[in-house]
Amino acid sequence: MNLEHLNALKKLLSTPRKIAIIPHKNPDGDAIGSTLALWHYLTNKGHKAQIVSPNDAPKFLKWMPGADKILNFEKQNIQAKACIDKANVIFTLDFNHLGRVGQMSEILEDSSATFVMVDHHQEPSDYAKIMYSDVTMSSTCEMVYNLIRELGDLDKITKEMANCIYTGIMTDTGSFKFAATTSNTHRVVADLMDKGAEGTEIHHRIYDTNSPSRLHLLGCALKNMVILEKFHTAYITLSQEELDKYNYQKGDTEGFVNYGLTLDGISFAVIFIENKEEGILKISFRSVGDFSVNDFARKHFNGGGHNNAAGGKSEDSIEDTIKYFTSLLPLYQKQLQS
Ligand code: 5GP
Ligand code: MN
Repeated sequence: MNLEHLNALKKLLSTPRKIAIIPHKNPDGDAIGSTLALWHYLTNKGHKAQIVSPNDAPKFLKWMPGADKILNFEKQNIQAKACIDKANVIFTLDFNHLGRVGQMSEILEDSSATFVMVDHHQEPSDYAKIMYSDVTMSSTCEMVYNLIRELGDLDKITKEMANCIYTGIMTDTGSFKFAATTSNTHRVVADLMDKGAEGTEIHHRIYDTNSPSRLHLLGCALKNMVILEKFHTAYITLSQEELDKYNYQKGDTEGFVNYGLTLDGISFAVIFIENKEEGILKISFRSVGDFSVNDFARKHFNGGGHNNAAGGKSEDSIEDTIKYFTSLLPLYQKQLQS
């Protein structure tokens, strides 16, 4: 974080504030981990802080300390709105343009609070007065740790906070294997363990609490996988009918897209998931190497993210979307070879 913004933040937090902390819609481990860690920190410092999530978090994140205190904008709309209206400081974590909070964006746009962005995605927009944006970071959680360090408060990281930060780093780095995992990430994790983070327990709670129906849905997804060797690409589709058949619960498809990348010679993996209620397909893109799925998602599927992990959407049917998707691949054949 540059000095000017850091000093502005120090000044901002030098008196008790009413603070709203916002993760992106369909929050993941990094979004929930970072907002909770910051919430614990600010609350312990004497601020009146509240996390308002655009919608619910998946069950496998509900164990996190403080998760039961998060306001859900979809379900607790009046309370959530009042909280944002009252806030004089709004932290937005793990996203960098207001479209990522869905219906909540209007209220945020109307707010006169001072916005603080902490985020590691590409191409931040300019709604925040105070910005800590760094695309080289493994996760927003690592950035929250850095922020607390820069505020001179590493000794204020409690065991609860350490568990939250550890969770977000672990989930966003694919358990410390993605390219953004640096020696510094490991140093942060080491310190978190010294502060009480329970790595083995966290891993178990996130990855080893599957329901049988999720594994059956995974079986269906893997059966549906189409491999396009020529383009080093593998894609999966899941229709609403298939989701219903396997009693889909929020979060059940998390990580499915990565299976494509475990195939030898595949450098681009995609999953298209139908959501009849929203009338869209939610798409996840993953790559290894230089092919930027952020650019691809931005350009063709109204989305974005990171170089190697991005998301997007389509308002067409699965069939038409796949047709469009496969028609794009020849344009990228060269990049996909690397
Ligand atoms: P996922 O595929 O797991 O939903 O998301 C992968 C990455 O891309 C995450 O960092 C997520 O924040 C980002 N992302 C997912 N969907 C969208 C989207 O619709 N727009 C943008 N800009 N980023 C997205
Ligand atoms: Mn993240």
